[in-house]
Amino acid sequence: MKLDSSISAVITGGASGLGAATARHLASLGVRVALFDRDADRGIPLAAEIGGVFCQVDVTSDEAVAAGFAQARAAHGQERILVNCAGTGDGVKTASRDRNTGEIKPHPISKFDRTLQINLVGTFRCIAQSAAGMMTLPPLEHGERGVIVNTASVAAEDGQVGQAAYSASKGGIVGMTLPIARDLMGEGIRVNTILPGIFDTALLQTVPQNVRAALAESVPFPKRLGQPEEFADLVATMARNGYFNGACVRLDGAIRMAPR
Ligand code: NAD
Repeated sequence: MKLDSSISAVITGGASGLGAATARHLASLGVRVALFDRDADRGIPLAAEIGGVFCQVDVTSDEAVAAGFAQARAAHGQERILVNCAGTGDGVKTASRDRNTGEIKPHPISKFDRTLQINLVGTFRCIAQSAAGMMTLPPLEHGERGVIVNTASVAAEDGQVGQAAYSASKGGIVGMTLPIARDLMGEGIRVNTILPGIFDTALLQTVPQNVRAALAESVPFPKRLGQPEEFADLVATMARNGYFNGACVRLDGAIRMAPR
């Protein structure tokens, strides 16, 4: 797909981090960008900066996602690109023993479910609604109608202590990539997933300098954190390169996460 001003894109989690870098990159190529995010404080100024549209959307709500697509499509026309970056994660062990009191507790299922709802179900909800919209479009050259890029994590393959829910959610995104690509093959819609390693986003910027340095040192090569622009560059490649379909690609400097 040629990336220019004839193309519009929706980026979930677009107000921050990897989504924000992707929004800036696609906008710099002329693509008309709509940001879906819960966070209006960051999303509104970024949309203004890149000449895009901000849609306040919680990806766990069918209605909010539908309203977001309606708003984005009214402003820019039907999107041909969907990038799913909205995501969350917290560290909770499957069962844990309190160091001070000795109390033993199972992982709260409500927390497990919340992570799955945002990362996995939220991603699928946006894919399903976006694909239905893309199917109304006339095909471009070579029969292509659209492209979808999802964000998993290397935790889909090597999850660490406390990452059962996060890894399950990201493993679900990896697992559904090929069947979704197959569901949409007759419609000319491609679907790919990126598994980022450790990227320098908002979360990492709050970490002390010595911890950041240790994380950078743990990457085989190059010995540094990933830059959000490097993620954005792969999104653009997955959109441009028409043979990229049904793929799950690690972008991680060859890191393999240790147990903790
Ligand atoms: P980030 O916190 O900077 O951005 C995530 C964005 O998602 C935020 O703007 C947040 O408001 C939004 N969001 C969260 N829940 C939402 C919801 N329910 N509805 C709508 N928006 C919601 O994080 P990031 O580092 O840019 O991460 C982006 C994605 O990349 C996530 O899916 C994350 O799991 C994944 N990832 C990040 C890294 C990394 O090292 N940064 C590594 C692997 C995977």
